[in-house]
Order: sequence, then C-alpha cells, then structure tokens
Amino acid sequence: MKIGFMTFGCKVNASEDEFVSGELAALGFAAAPPAEADVIVINTCAVTETAAKRCASCVSAMRRKRPEARIIVTGCLTGLSGTDFKALGADAVVTNGSKGSLKEHIISLTDGLVPVENAPFYGGGPSVGTSKTRAFFKIQDGCDAGCAYCIIPSLRGKPRSKPYKEALADFALLVERGFKEIVLVGIHIGMYGRGTPYGLAELLEAVTEIPGDYRVRLSSVETGEITDKLVGLMAERRERICPHLHIPLQSGSDKILKAMGRRYFAADYINAAVNAAKRVEDLTIGSDVIVGFPGETEADFGDTVQTLKKAGADFIHVFPYSERKGTAASGMEGRLSKGEKEARASLLRGMWDEVSLASMRAMKGKICRVLTERGGKGRSDNYMPVVLSADIPPNRFVNVLITGDENGSLTGDIIP
Ligand code: SF4
Repeated sequence: MKIGFMTFGCKVNASEDEFVSGELAALGFAAAPPAEADVIVINTCAVTETAAKRCASCVSAMRRKRPEARIIVTGCLTGLSGTDFKALGADAVVTNGSKGSLKEHIISLTDGLVPVENAPFYGGGPSVGTSKTRAFFKIQDGCDAGCAYCIIPSLRGKPRSKPYKEALADFALLVERGFKEIVLVGIHIGMYGRGTPYGLAELLEAVTEIPGDYRVRLSSVETGEITDKLVGLMAERRERICPHLHIPLQSGSDKILKAMGRRYFAADYINAAVNAAKRVEDLTIGSDVIVGFPGETEADFGDTVQTLKKAGADFIHVFPYSERKGTAASGMEGRLSKGEKEARASLLRGMWDEVSLASMRAMKGKICRVLTERGGKGRSDNYMPVVLSADIPPNRFVNVLITGDENGSLTGDIIP
C-alpha cells in the first residue's frame, strides 16, 4: 500500500504528516509521490484566502488526475465552513479535532488491507471474553518459528506481545469484572515478551499475584518453552494456575520433526512432559499431532505413538497432514495418500479415546476444584469435563468428589 502526503501551510502540518507517515511506515505502508500513491492525504492550510483556494483546487485536481486513489483531506481548512471537500472529490474528511486518529482513518480507507508484516500488537483488552465464566486474554500474536507445514507466520506476521504493564492492568480488570478463569492465549505464547526481561513465566508470576477469586490457564506452549521457572510456578501456585499443559508434539519421529522444521527431538518432548507431571500434582498433558507428513513411514508413525505414550499425553488432537500452498512442505516428496493419512489418524484417535478415558478414570475418588458452567456441569482445573450431582449456578468454584464417569465426562458430588 502506497501513501502520499501533500502538505500545505506551516511546520506543524509538516511535523504531523511526518509523524503519521512514520507510523504508517512501521505498518508496511510505503511513501510515494501523490501521482503513484494508493492513498493521498491533503493536509490543508487556512491561514490566508489564497492558501485556502489552493488547497481546495488541489483536492479537485487530484480527484481528476487520480480517480482510482483514495483521498483524505485534513488540516485547518476542514474546521472552516464553506468548502465541501466531499463534493470536490475527497473520500474522507478528518478535522483537526480528529487528527489524532488520522492513521486509523487512513487504514480504514484501505479496507483493512494493511500488510501484516510489522503490524503492532492489538487485542487482549478488558472487554474480551466469549462467556461470563472464561475470558480468552490475548497476550501475544505472530510467529517466526518457520515450521515447514505452517502458513500462519505469513498471515499473522512476526511475534509481538501485549506490553507487560498493559497486560497486568488489563488482567486486573478482567478479574475485577468477575471472570473466574482467564486463559492466556496467543499464536505462540512461549514467545511472549521476547527480547524483554518479561517472558511468559514472568508474566504468569506477576498476574497470579493479583488478588481475587480466579484461576489462570495456559493455552498451547511449545516443548522448548516449558522452562524450569514456568513449571515451578505451576507447582507452587497450583490453586491459581490450572494443572494442564497443552504441548504440541506434531510427530514423535526425529526424522519427521527435522523435516517439519520443529526445533526439538522426541526425547526433549518426553522429558518436558514427564518432568512437569512429576512436579505438578494431577497435571494433564494435551497435544496436537500431525499424521502422514510427507516421508512419514509406518515406523515413524510408530515413533509418534511411543513418544505420546512415554510422555503420558492424556488428550490429543490428531490432524491428517494437509498441504498448504506457500509453505516449505508443500513441495516435499514422499506424500501419502488420503487413505493412508486417514487410516493413521483414525488408529491414533481410537487409541487415545481409551487413554483419555483411563486418565479420567484415574481421577475417581479424588477431589477436584471445578468451575461451574450452565446446565449442572463444569470443568476441573486439569481440564476434564465434570457433570455435577446438583444443578448450581454457573461461574462458581466448587470442590467435587469424583465418583465415576458417564458419556465422556466425570461425575461427582459437591462437597463443602
Ligand atoms: S506451527 Fe506454531 S510454532 Fe510452528 S510456525 Fe506455525 S504457529 Fe509457529
């Protein structure tokens, strides 16, 4: 997207245009002469009658010369009545009072087509949340891990994070608004705060010191990002931090992990999961697995099964490999047929239906802290669905003695 400024009048106008131009450059806009720009900003001057006339005729001239360009008129002349800039051809008029949001007006005129590269972090504000019980709190966006099968980095851009202090303030607001479970989400949350002293563990440490009746859940965390500090916090603050880790494996074959561009070995995955499970009581492990990546043999698939077993994965999501154009993996040799991929996926899903059920049954006789939802059910802190013996209102923490399981959920009695 190319942007051209036509600055009339004083140095203040010039300074403002430079400032906005810099902000837009950081978003990937390229500066261009008005004759070539997609968006033309005309920053007007009202100091003399002559200046005003020049500005007005500039707007109509640009409209004639560049019918396809978007034209925004701003500056002092927009505050004077008498000139209808829209009639002269402007697509938008931004008065001096709204100049602080000139950048946003420019972006909206480009139909939201700002390139994602270098886009600033947005989101994770205090109004987020899809249910009254659980808030999904965005702390991070983007990824540059470069996994061979993944299109996300080109669509989401480079890693960037919600500023630490802002994250603490907004988290506190979510607690104040009554959210009982706050899930820290992002495209790659292990990259939170990269390049600053405040990484994911530091953020988790700080947010869990905020007083209130709530718990925190982590979304997906990669193997190499499950640090000693993170696991230590989960063990020490088990009441605050849900004992559940979702660690994507993708493959348990070192050969396939390398082809995928994943930066760990199967043994690293097992160590991370086993070590965390030893330290955090009743921790459950979730995982994502891709089966049928190009070149995956029966033996590689067998390694995946073994790795998941050794790691003690309780719940898995299985995805048959699906080619995405524009990724490094899309040209790879050794593609498997749809039938082979589906067969492996369904074999693995079937195995883990049983593993998951066994993990749930191991909870029988234990007491879980459950956050209630509508309809007499809830979810344990280690992420198991629980059907309660009494229908109590949603959004409350209750202690539940697990008595059994039914239709894929635990069953239990509320105890004082
Ligand atoms: S799979 Fe995850 S870690 Fe890998 S590139 Fe995609 S978003 Fe990043």
